[in-house]
Parts: sequence; C-alpha cells; structure tokens
Amino acid sequence: MDRMDPLGKLRSQFNIPTRNGQELVYLTGNSLGCQPKQVREDIERELADWAQLGVLGHEQARDPWFSYHEQFRVPLAAIVGAKPSEVVAMNTLTVNLHLLMVSFYRPTRERYKIVIEDSAFPSDSYAVASQTRFHGFSADDAVIRLKPREGEHTLRTSDIEAAIEREGKQIALVMLGGVNYLTGQFFEMERITACARQQGCVVGWDLAHAAGSVPVRLHEWGVDFAAWCSYKYLNAGPGAVAGAFVHDRHAREDLPRFEGWWGNDPAERFSMGREFVPKPDADAWQLSNPPILSMTPLKGSLAIFQAVGMEALRRKSLALTGYMEELLTERCGERVQLVSPADPSQRGGHLSLVVDGADQTLLSKLIEADIIVDFREPNVIRAAPAPSYVSFQDVWRFVDVLAGLLEHA
Ligand SMILES: *Cc1c(COP(=O)(O)O)cnc(C)c1O
Repeated sequence: MDRMDPLGKLRSQFNIPTRNGQELVYLTGNSLGCQPKQVREDIERELADWAQLGVLGHEQARDPWFSYHEQFRVPLAAIVGAKPSEVVAMNTLTVNLHLLMVSFYRPTRERYKIVIEDSAFPSDSYAVASQTRFHGFSADDAVIRLKPREGEHTLRTSDIEAAIEREGKQIALVMLGGVNYLTGQFFEMERITACARQQGCVVGWDLAHAAGSVPVRLHEWGVDFAAWCSYKYLNAGPGAVAGAFVHDRHAREDLPRFEGWWGNDPAERFSMGREFVPKPDADAWQLSNPPILSMTPLKGSLAIFQAVGMEALRRKSLALTGYMEELLTERCGERVQLVSPADPSQRGGHLSLVVDGADQTLLSKLIEADIIVDFREPNVIRAAPAPSYVSFQDVWRFVDVLAGLLEHA
C-alpha cells in the first residue's frame, strides 16, 4: 500500500521525530503536527531580513511584514472552502473564538443560549460559559450541552437537529467542533448549519480537528464564522498563528467588534487617524501587527496543502483509518472498541479507541516501543494517522505492538 500511495513521497518533506536515530510511529498529528523541513529555511530568512533591514523590513523584507498575513488567504481559503476575503491568519484559537463571539454572540433576554457538544474541548467550554456570564446570564442555564444517547459514544445528527428545533427560539449560537476532539466524530456540518439557521441561530464551527483533515465548504454551507488552530493537522508548529473565517455576508454589516489598528483598512493604517475604518472582510477582526516568526511556519506547511489538495489528503486519511480499524478488529478483537463513528464519512482524521485496561502504564509501554499516541482518562487511546507523513506501515506497527501488549497484559 505504501508503494502504491500517490502521497507516499510527501513524508520526505517532514522531520519525523526520532529516538536513537529511529523514526517514531507518530500518531499524534492531531495534537502537534510534524515539522515541514521548509520551515527552518523560511524562519532563517525572516531572521536575516530583520537583522539586515530592521524597521525597513515592514516594506522591504522579501515578504514585507506590513502585508505578511495576506499571503495566507488563498491557501487557507482552499482548506476551509471559503473565499480568500473570508479568512485571516491571526492570534490563537481560543482568542479567535472570543473575538468572533464578541461579534456573533449577541444574546437577548429571549434568545441567549449557546449549544456545544457535552464532550467539547475544555477551552471551548470555558469560552462559551464565560461569554454567557459576561453578558449577565448563568452558564448553567445558558449553555446547552448535547449528550449522546445512553450507551452511545457519538451524537446522532437527527438528535442534534431535534435539540436545535426544540429550543430554537432560545438559542443565540450553535458552536460545535467540526470534528470532535475526543471521539473523532465529523459532524454533518452542512445539515446542522442549515437546521440552526432555519431556527434563526448564528452558527460557528471550531475547526481545530477539521482544518487540514476533512474537506469543508464554509462559504457554500452558509456558516457565519469559524476558527481553527494551525499546529494540529496544519503542521505549523507549537502555538502557531491560528485562522478565522467570517462569511462575506457579514463583511459590511455594522457588527460590534473589538478593534485594533490591523483591522483598519491598510490604506488608512499608517495615517494614524482617530477613526477606525474596517477593512470590509475578515481582516477587520485583526488587532495587532502579526507575530511574523510564529506565522512563518504557515508558509511551508500551507504550501504542501496547496500542492496536494484536501481531496487527496482526505482519501489517504480514510484509507489509513480504515486500514487501522481493519487491523484492530483482526488483531485485538473485543479488547479494543471503536468510539469513533462506524461510518467512515462521519469520522475525522483520528480513531478513538476504548482499550481494555488501558492506563498510563500501557501508554508508557507503547512509547517505549516507539509508538506515539495519546491517552485520555479513563481508557481512551486516540491514534491519528496524519496523511501527509504517516505510512501504512506505521499503522501496522502500531496495531502489532498494541496487540502484543494486550496479549501479555
Ligand atoms: C486544540 C483545541 C483547542 C486549543 O486551543 P488553543 O487556543 O489553541 O490553545 C481548542 N479547542 C479545540 C476544539 C481544540 O481541539
């Protein structure tokens, strides 16, 4: 399978973490993607331009810092299915969620609730709860947490729709993760977006585990806003600059917004006027001049996505997770159960597994055997075969080691 894999050669563009000179089986690209080799050269170039040019680099660097973020519009738009004017690289994920909620969570006494998954990532839970409290509501009342049915791990789309329809008039915002970080469920975003908008709710998506992993079409689906980080499947390094999407139907609306000079129209930015003239697109949500050095890795990482395209990556991702599932069934049987949906089209880039007796000790033994996966209490292992650098042989090695450990447990 590796020999026939059209994306097999991509791996050589990444630094795969090693131990004693051996490449690890790296299945945690959903936490921190591997480093594209291009990154070092790109960062050194910025360091050289800074050393050489100082402040003149804003205009004269090889990629002038004044407009530096603009180069990411086209590649980011392709990844999330947006128009270039609808996306911007800025800040970090939770910051962007808050900034976007300032504009898009505008509760009234009647319509003030926010819908999230019960298993939402903690930061998202804190963000929405604190937003409701900021507006004077009680988070216990204002945050609706969607739970799977008794005995099920993931949410049924029809149950999500029913919940939105039931409380529709009270819901201000539906904000789910495109792919749930814990279960790997890839929500039926188009259906859920349409249902929520029909009820008059605003719809935002957290694409932390979706951006660069599954194809989405934010513009076409009519999503109001979205945000994502760039260090997971987008491989742009720890704390890399995140992304945000604002649908262009909002570009010229008079929305409340926290403003800063980088959201000002660039023609006005250095005129130092008192008046904020928002750029009529996603750029208007920027506050500060961008952190060039933590933005630079996006160049090399997004170039790979541009060259390969989301469709090809998704195809390989499905092949990898499908192969993993097949091997797990064959080698581990009942001792490993799938938490992720059985339907591959409703799965993101990782599989979540309930492993019999899994604990920190099992995780340590996996790491000793050069298998890097992650473990969530009480007994869930998440394995993410990122399609840009994980091979079918890696998947085989993971299952082989796991099956061996479970046999001798
Ligand atoms: C990874 C992740 C985060 C992390 O937020 P940061 O602001 O980047 O630290 C938040 N939400 C979700 C759903 C995530 O998967």
